[in-house]
Amino acid sequence: MRQTRLFSKTTKQTPHDADSVNARFLTQAGFVHQEMAGVYSWLPLGLRVLRKVEAIIRDEMDGLGAQEILMPALQPKEPWEKTDRWDTVDILFKIKSQTGKEYALGPTHEEIVTPLVGDFLRSYKDLPITVYQIQTKYRDELRAKSGVLRGREFGMKDLYSFHATQEDLEDFYQKALKAYARVYARCGVQAKVVEASGGDFTEKFSHEFQVITPAGEDKILTTENGTFAQNCEIATLREGDASPENGEPLACVTGVEVGNIFDLGCRFSEVFDVAFSDENGERHIAKMGCYGIGITRLVGTIVEALHDENGMRWPKSVAPYHVHLITINAKDEETLSRIQSAAEDVYAQLEKEGVEVLWDDRDVSPGEKFADADLIGLPLRIVISEKTLKEDSVEWKFRESKENELVKLQDIVENVGTWLAE
Ligand code: ATP
Ligand code: MG
Repeated sequence: MRQTRLFSKTTKQTPHDADSVNARFLTQAGFVHQEMAGVYSWLPLGLRVLRKVEAIIRDEMDGLGAQEILMPALQPKEPWEKTDRWDTVDILFKIKSQTGKEYALGPTHEEIVTPLVGDFLRSYKDLPITVYQIQTKYRDELRAKSGVLRGREFGMKDLYSFHATQEDLEDFYQKALKAYARVYARCGVQAKVVEASGGDFTEKFSHEFQVITPAGEDKILTTENGTFAQNCEIATLREGDASPENGEPLACVTGVEVGNIFDLGCRFSEVFDVAFSDENGERHIAKMGCYGIGITRLVGTIVEALHDENGMRWPKSVAPYHVHLITINAKDEETLSRIQSAAEDVYAQLEKEGVEVLWDDRDVSPGEKFADADLIGLPLRIVISEKTLKEDSVEWKFRESKENELVKLQDIVENVGTWLAE
């Protein structure tokens, strides 16, 4: 992608209501555009990150054997009354039609998925059933804040599992827990697993996934190197105690909840009579679990966890492009055209190999290009200038490193390939 063709532009201005690092950098770099408090448009660079995070999640959910579906955001009132949640869930957005009929904008989908699966479930042979979706959720948050971390409209992956027995549910739950850990690791962040209370569910157990950053709202008791964590409020241990996991002293730090999984028992399947017949023809209510990942929040969390004072630092797995190719324009025509044609060549060769390249072909100063490259935060920067061409080379620098080196033009494709395969 040539940067001159990118319709979003970087800006030096800090958005006046940017209350967090992710709000500031994502907006300044033109990844997102705020439409109102808690509601964002995703622009080309931001959308590419979002799609990559979604692809990782799809891969892991498909790996669990779950099937992807898509349920509506616009939901009828009746199932919400049936589960007693129409009047009790404070963040539920309610809409009134011109016909007088009322609807909910889905903050979650138990009220839809449970009767849906109930429509198809007959016998124990149908179980387990695991379905998931990647979809937009709506929550009437009292205070939308911290950029994309707490929105009123946001992306979520929600998976629902239905089982014949508690053992089967727990077996799947453990597999889901591991798949979640892989999702976060593949997105370049470490998530701590916190045993949590079940919120408004009366289920047996629940786990939250927390990424430690100062932008977090939750207080977590954990160690730097371990994944064991407890919520500070409900903790049986105290700050300074040795972690049962690795003996390191526990500290109370703040985390962002990037995922939450629940054993729902029969809380919803009972209400909608989601039953199956066993080997002997006896009817049983299915056991149910639900598993959520805040996708847009996860993108914001990656920014919070990986950045420096100059901008974002995307891991190559979710970076909008792998390489930021920067040409330093020369004054004289002949040099300029040599730089241009070297860049065209590098760009074409990399694209041919499937390497995603953002080429800063703008007519602006080197300082502005470098500052924007740091802000946008692609993992690898390749600079072509009159100076580097004297050595038949480019300047090669990773975003997280202060060092750069010269790499011969003819070695670029191979070096990039090696780096991407690491
Ligand atoms: P929180 O405690 O932060 O309000 P929650 O526990 O109510 O979140 P869940 O119902 O567990 O949220 O939703 C699943 C996931 O969706 C959360 O783990 C979080 O990552 C994400 N999420 C929840 N609310 C929001 C929001 N307002 N904006 C963005 N992501 C959200
Ligand atoms: Mg939660």
